[in-house]
Amino acid sequence: MPTQSEDRDDLLSRLSRFEKQYFPRYERTYRKLVEEGQQPKTLFIGCSDSRIVPYALMDCGVGELFIARNVGNLIPPWDLSAGFHGTAAAIEFAVLKLEVHNIVICGHSHCGAIRGLFEAPPAEATHLHAWLDLARDAMRPEPPSAAAIRRTEQRSLVLQLERLMTYPMVVRRVQAGALFLHAWYYVIEEGRVLVLDAEQGAFLPHEQVGPPVDTASADALAGRAPRENDPIDLDTAHWLRRPPTA
Ligand SMILES: [Zn+2]
Repeated sequence: MPTQSEDRDDLLSRLSRFEKQYFPRYERTYRKLVEEGQQPKTLFIGCSDSRIVPYALMDCGVGELFIARNVGNLIPPWDLSAGFHGTAAAIEFAVLKLEVHNIVICGHSHCGAIRGLFEAPPAEATHLHAWLDLARDAMRPEPPSAAAIRRTEQRSLVLQLERLMTYPMVVRRVQAGALFLHAWYYVIEEGRVLVLDAEQGAFLPHEQVGPPVDTASADALAGRAPRENDPIDLDTAHWLRRPPTA
C-alpha cells in the first residue's frame, strides 16, 4: 500500500506536469476561452466511472463540453423541493445560460451503479442507496446475469431521457427544435458507442441510427408495439411513446 507521502508526491508531480508541459501547449486556447467565455455546444451527462473519458470519446478539446457526472449517469426528476440538486442545477445552467444545442446522456457497460441495484448497498451508503432509486424502474425481476445488467443499463438510459423531459426548459427547447437529446451506451471493452435510435427503440451502432430524439421521432415511435428482440423494453419508455405537452 502506498504511503501518504507517496500519494501526495504523485498528485503534486501530476500538477507540475500540467503546469510545465500541458498548459504551455494550449495557453493561447485557454486565454481565448477566458477572454471570450466558454461556448460549449453540448452538455455531456455521464457516469463518474473512471473509465469514461468524455473528451476522448467525443474527440473534444478544452471548452467544447459542459460536463455533469454522477454515479450512474442518472437524472433526478424536475422538482422544486428544498435541497441541493446538483445535477438539476447543471442542466439548468447548460440549457438556460449556455444554450447548448445537444444533451448527451452517456451510460456504459459494467456500470457499478447499475450492478449496485442488484446488490445490498454498504450499510453506511444512505445517499447512494436513495440515489439509485432513480434507476430502479429499469430493473426486471431476473437474476443479475451479464445480459440482464446490460439490458438494465440500457433501459435506465431511456428512463433518464424520459426524466430529462420533465424539465420545462428542456421540453420547451426540444419542441422548438433548438435542443436535441441523445442517449449513448458506451461499450468500454469494445471501444464503441451504441446510440439510441428513437424510431427503432434500440441502441444501434452510430452508423445505423436516425436523427436524434425530438418530438417528431417520439411521434414516430408512439404506438409501435415492442418487438421481441428489442434490447430496451418500450413499456418503460413512457416519454418516447407519449410525447409531452408543453
Ligand atoms: Zn457507471
